[in-house]
Parts: sequence; C-alpha cells; structure tokens
Amino acid sequence: MMDANGDFLAVLFTDFHPREGKRSGAWMSSFKSQFIKNGADSRPHITIVMNFTRPTETKPALLTFDEVETFLHEFGHALHGMLAKSTYETLSGTSVYRDFVELPSQIMENWLVEKEYLDKFAFHYQTGEKMPAELVQKIINAANYNIGYLTFRQLSFGYLDMAWHTLEQPFDGDVREFEQKAMLPVKLLPVVPGTSMSTAFGHIFSGGYAAGYYSYKWAEVLDADAFAAFKENGIFDKKTAQSFRVNVLEKGNTEEPMALYKRFRGHEPTVDALLERNGVK
Ligand SMILES: [Zn+2]
Repeated sequence: MMDANGDFLAVLFTDFHPREGKRSGAWMSSFKSQFIKNGADSRPHITIVMNFTRPTETKPALLTFDEVETFLHEFGHALHGMLAKSTYETLSGTSVYRDFVELPSQIMENWLVEKEYLDKFAFHYQTGEKMPAELVQKIINAANYNIGYLTFRQLSFGYLDMAWHTLEQPFDGDVREFEQKAMLPVKLLPVVPGTSMSTAFGHIFSGGYAAGYYSYKWAEVLDADAFAAFKENGIFDKKTAQSFRVNVLEKGNTEEPMALYKRFRGHEPTVDALLERNGVK
C-alpha cells in the first residue's frame, strides 16, 4: 500500500476464500508491526483473513451483507495497523486499550448502509441495477429491531462484569442475589426464576473480557459519534478522513485514547449519535 504521495506504507496480505484445513471466521493480524529505529521508519506487514463464498464456474463470489460488513470491520483493523506511525513497536498500530481497539474497525461498518457508498459497487451482478433505497432501509430497520431490549441486555452484562471485578473482598454471598442487584439499574424484564447469568458468563471469567465487557457498547458509542463527523462533513470528506488518520489511526497507544479522540472530534463522544443510528432518538 502506497500513500497518496507515493511513499511506501505497508504490505497487505489478503486471504479471502476458504480452503481445506483453513480456520473459519475472519480476523486481522500483523506479521510485522511498524516501528522507527535509528530514524528509519520500518513499515508493517498486515494480513486480513476472510472466508468469503467462493466464485463458481457460473457465478462470481456473491458476497452477503454480513460478509462485506465483516470485511470492512477487519479492513478497519488493517488500516490501524498499516497507517501506524510510532517509535515503539509495542505501542504501535492496534496495540491500544481494549475499549479503544474496535473504534477503527466498527466505524468502517457505518459506510455499508450509506446509499452513496453502496452505489459505487453494490450492483446486481446480472442486471447492473443499483441496490434500491427501500432495501437499504429494510436492512437498517432489521438491525434496529428490538434495539431497546438488546441495548439494556448488553448494558446489564457490563454492569454485572464490573460488579464482580470491582469486589475488594473474597465473595461468599448468594450469587443470584448479587447478580440481580448488580443488574438492577438496567433491568427491563422480570428475572426468570432459577436462572443465573454469572455462572454462564465465560466471557468475563475466561474470555479475556474481565472488567472490559462494557467496551462492546462503548465502542458503539465511539464509532457512532466518530462517524457522525463524516455524516456532518460528507462520508467521503478527505479532511475528516485525514484527521481520523492522523489523530487516531497513526497514533496507536502513544497517548490516552480520549485525548486522541478529542483531537479528531473536537469534543468527547456523546451517546446521541448511537441513539439516532438505533432509531430511538
Ligand atoms: Zn474487531
């Protein structure tokens, strides 16, 4: 990948289709991160791996909406890695706090429901017809279906996680009682007797998300608020994109995320953009 002025930025390896023995799913990783040594900027080698539907003899690879969304997500992580500009490798690219690492990836997903973006490539493979606006709206509506409940559910998991991981004394009380109290501020539906989330919540005990579950929702707040800057200035506005690149993507973990974010956005994020995207405001 070259910069606009022709400077070498990074090598990007793409591995798009499934094959025998290949792991399923999609991810970005770094074969070699970026760093600066003795004044020389050593550029990164990044990969994104997908498992897209393969083309056949008679049909091209017709990607589903989810596949393109996943691609944009991983490509956002890849940009974070490829545009890195730090002295130390350990602070470079995606080596940021867990509650900041999904901003560059999730922000990319926002473009996918923008008609202006879809009209650039999402044509019917036989007729060449553009994706109808009503269909795009249906996709948005489906994503927002039941969003109030889903939001509270997600928040309740964050509250529960934080309650367990801020205990300062060994716990010997009643797990269900503790749990219900922790989730009370965001409780929407009555508790089903005999159920307990804590004992099934592997994510926060063995999944690496201890005291970090909130970052799922927080990343949405960040990506919606950040994308609102593009909505305000135009989704292909170069100045906004450049600011995101310089203030967020290039900086890695060299500064506090909030300081970087504010330099890009001009202020701290608010929940407004997310609520608007969700159709509740
Ligand atoms: Zn991600």
